[in-house]
Amino acid sequence: MPIYDYKCENCGHFEKIQKITAPALNECPTCGGKAERLISKNVGVVFKGSGFYKTDNNTVKDRVRNLNKERQVDNQALLDGDTKSFVEQSEKTTQKVLEA
Ligand SMILES: [Zn+2]
Repeated sequence: MPIYDYKCENCGHFEKIQKITAPALNECPTCGGKAERLISKNVGVVFKGSGFYKTDNNTVKDRVRNLNKERQVDNQALLDGDTKSFVEQSEKTTQKVLEA
């Protein structure tokens, strides 16, 4: 059974083990004061977090892929023995890395 977090207006935070189908308490079992169930730390947040992670990960992959393409242009210039072009191209790529 999950543990739910509650906030009591008199005694503050407490935890209560309940069935997932059980209704939320609105009364503190300790003092009888007004109690409020807090949003679970476990369920929604983790799900949302993994969604963000996936998005970030894809963005990073796209950036790396684009930068690799740029680096290939650098390397081609170097293979052609064109040092001046290599330096120019490499500087452009460095600028793109900084902007990425
Ligand atoms: Zn209380």
